[in-house]
Amino acid sequence: VPELPEVEVIRRGLAPKLVGETIVGVSQGGQRLRRQSEPDELAALIGQTVVDLSRRGKYLLVHLDQGQTLLVHLGMTGRLFYQTDACPALPHVHLVFRLHSGHKLVYQDVRRFGQVLVYPAGVQPPALAQVGLEPWSRRLTAARLRQQTTRLKRPVKNFLLDGRIIAGIGNIYASEALFATRLHPQTPVGDIGLETWTQLIRAIRRILSQAIAAGGTTIANFQDCEGQSGLFAVQLKVYGRAGEPCPGCGTPLVRLVMAGRSTFFCPRCQPEK
Ligand SMILES: [Zn+2]
Repeated sequence: VPELPEVEVIRRGLAPKLVGETIVGVSQGGQRLRRQSEPDELAALIGQTVVDLSRRGKYLLVHLDQGQTLLVHLGMTGRLFYQTDACPALPHVHLVFRLHSGHKLVYQDVRRFGQVLVYPAGVQPPALAQVGLEPWSRRLTAARLRQQTTRLKRPVKNFLLDGRIIAGIGNIYASEALFATRLHPQTPVGDIGLETWTQLIRAIRRILSQAIAAGGTTIANFQDCEGQSGLFAVQLKVYGRAGEPCPGCGTPLVRLVMAGRSTFFCPRCQPEK
């Protein structure tokens, strides 16, 4: 599942290629995505030029010169990439935007949980109103989180996954940030003090930045025909490593299912209080 760093790396990889390109054609596959604009709304983008690419949480926003916005969410298995005309045709392609240069912007999605939606000039996509603070926002402070969570019993892992509070932290990076902060994933958020919140915010920023940097190194050998491959070979310390020794103390790491999602932690470094 693409998380914030993957979307940011896609944005950084696509921006230099797409900005200044004009859409000259749109073709759509037979099967619809979970949320997808009507064919005539997508076709109305023909003739428009890309002026910018931005990101909010896990949403990628393509801004066009007549004010429209194309909002893309990759869902579970979505991939968005730039193809030169020499690339072979791929399966599971849902949308192809043909570009003035002769190249294409391709959206591929095996499981079709993704979203591709067009918004008219001046309209903020409603989904963005639900997106919490960016992890690097100055408004994201320990004091704010402490105040928001006083007396709340909600486990910190579930709190981190709630994109309405902090945007874009998925299952993998939540486990990694809790390990870095030595917090048990089931710790009630109301029990977390200011100093620990400060450490947790720092860990989130560091881990997400490292993941973006790791993805950034793959841009150098960006495969035009295949795009980015979902997750990067980031050095994960706990995620997916149940039974393996903790990199801090050697205790076997544990997998726990919380809210239907796998959580990985070290029972010694992250003791339950
Ligand atoms: Zn440990």
